[in-house]
Amino acid sequence: MPELPEVETVRRGLEPVLAGRRIVRAEVRRPDLRWPFPPRLAERLAGRRVAALGRRSKYLLAELDGGETLILHLGMSGRLLVSGAAVGSFHHAHPTPEKHDHVVLDIEGGARVTFNDARRFGVIDLWPTADIEAHRLLAGLGPEPLGNGFDGGYLARRLAGRRTPVKAVLGDQRVVAGLGNIYLSEALWRAGISPLRLARDVTAAEAETLAAAVRAVLIDAIAAGGSSLRDYRRADGELGYFQHSFAVYDRAGEACPRCGAAILRTVQAGRSSFWCPACQS
Ligand SMILES: [Zn+2]
Repeated sequence: MPELPEVETVRRGLEPVLAGRRIVRAEVRRPDLRWPFPPRLAERLAGRRVAALGRRSKYLLAELDGGETLILHLGMSGRLLVSGAAVGSFHHAHPTPEKHDHVVLDIEGGARVTFNDARRFGVIDLWPTADIEAHRLLAGLGPEPLGNGFDGGYLARRLAGRRTPVKAVLGDQRVVAGLGNIYLSEALWRAGISPLRLARDVTAAEAETLAAAVRAVLIDAIAAGGSSLRDYRRADGELGYFQHSFAVYDRAGEACPRCGAAILRTVQAGRSSFWCPACQS
């Protein structure tokens, strides 16, 4: 499942293709993904200019000139493909639409953006831009981890008094938006804090360290995604997936890069936590 850095990488790859450009034609090839598409989706997209391409948590937000914003979530398996335009220095011809190509946008200047989603957990919606924060999928989200609303003081207040593991609080989308299992494990490792530690036992100084670690792992991953956009060009023009090395995630039994002890995998609330029992406490 794409996490925040992958979505941000998709946004950065898509921005030069979409921002400031008009959607000349939209083809909607099925009525729904996870939920039904909004009524008359193709008609409401055609002819609109994309004023800006933003992101909130793992949602891409394409602000259109007619006063609506296209909300797009990649779900479990969603992929965005760009053809007919230079992606980096490569040019990808339009492929024939495939079975799982659900929405196709032809952009002025000749680019085509295709949303492909084999498992169909993706989301597409249209919503008034002026009211976007009230959309049911966005309304409850906490601050962006890379925004000004998230820092050590804020995190310390949200952890205070909680008898649940720190990882569960940090993964709560109402506390901070967009953190998933991979970057939770990585941030806790960087901060030297066990994912099993109770939130109330995290000190104010540790909350500062942890907030900084969250930002650092995301910034590093986004940087890796950016270099993948420049250096690693997919034959099919797909955006956003890249090789990235993790310190602990999916490395059970391997040596901790910091202290050499064996990395553990512990299941918490049905999700795997990867951590070092020697240098995280
Ligand atoms: Zn270690």
